[in-house]
Amino acid sequence: MIVITEFMNERVIQEQLGQFPVVYNPELFNQVDSLKDHMSSAQALIVRNKTQVNKELITTGSQLKCIGRLGVGLDNIDLNACTERNISVFPATGANNISVAEYVIGTAMVLMRNAYLSSASTIHGDWNRTEHIGSEINGKTLGIIGLGEIGQLVAEYACGLGMKVQAYDPYLKSEHPVWQKIKPVDLSELSKTSNIISLHVPLVEATRNLINRDFLSMCKRGAIIINTSRGGILDEEALVHFLQLGHIGGAALDVFATEPLSCAEGQKYSGLNNLILTPHIAGVTIESNYRVSKKIAELVADCLK
Ligand code: NAD
Repeated sequence: MIVITEFMNERVIQEQLGQFPVVYNPELFNQVDSLKDHMSSAQALIVRNKTQVNKELITTGSQLKCIGRLGVGLDNIDLNACTERNISVFPATGANNISVAEYVIGTAMVLMRNAYLSSASTIHGDWNRTEHIGSEINGKTLGIIGLGEIGQLVAEYACGLGMKVQAYDPYLKSEHPVWQKIKPVDLSELSKTSNIISLHVPLVEATRNLINRDFLSMCKRGAIIINTSRGGILDEEALVHFLQLGHIGGAALDVFATEPLSCAEGQKYSGLNNLILTPHIAGVTIESNYRVSKKIAELVADCLK
């Protein structure tokens, strides 16, 4: 039995997993008792990031051989408990890189043009064109923090649009060919010289609150911050403070310290202009959902065979 607890491409389920008994309930992550019942006959579990695959849940799956993660972060899965039981864990590494990179470039352009701001006033007949004049991204400097798979794709797109790209990634070897096109900088130089800053690091102790009050205060006036990596890397209160001052010119946040963002938590952002908030969907598009689903279905099917 394959138990799927969050949304997955249904065509892929039929085509790739049709040979196995499948329980597919995209809300199962929220129905813990029902999930535990199904776990007793599960050989494979397929989740996104909402299902808490903790030791207790893993214990209920006595026949469990593998867990497929429809995405990349594994923070919701107790990997030690999986290792103890010899359960394979498959992330869909790389399958949503294009979607995240396009989100970064798309939100950067919208924020630089003040386009996000102008809809509300235009609807009310305000035709103040000079107030809404923004900037091109061509010729601007993009600072990437974390030059891994997604960071490198963002860099490639940005270079194609005529941006200057610099990056901070102390773990990427200096001989890596990507540095031939991208200027290596330290965090301090990146903060002071970038027009747009995009975060692409994992959430680990070293990156927690990496983008804090000190970092934001060093940024160029009007700089734009984009976070598609993980909440907790950016100090949200500090960002709100610098957005209110107008020192940071805009931000796009797809990830938050607490997800889902509650109504009460969201209040701190209300009234802020030039801010795009999205519910952790930078990597989720029709195309990436298909690729992610297909990759995980193939890995799970191979494992069960
Ligand atoms: P990756 O592992 O390929 O790259 C991460 C890079 O960060 C590596 O090059 C690593 O050297 C670097 N790094 C690690 N610690 C660092 C530090 N302290 N300072 C600077 N650099 C550091 O990962 P990826 O696939 O590019 O993903 C990047 C992030 O995007 C992850 O946090 C992932 O969870 C997130 N993500 C979000 C979405 C979404 O929908 N919002 C989708 C996919 C991935």
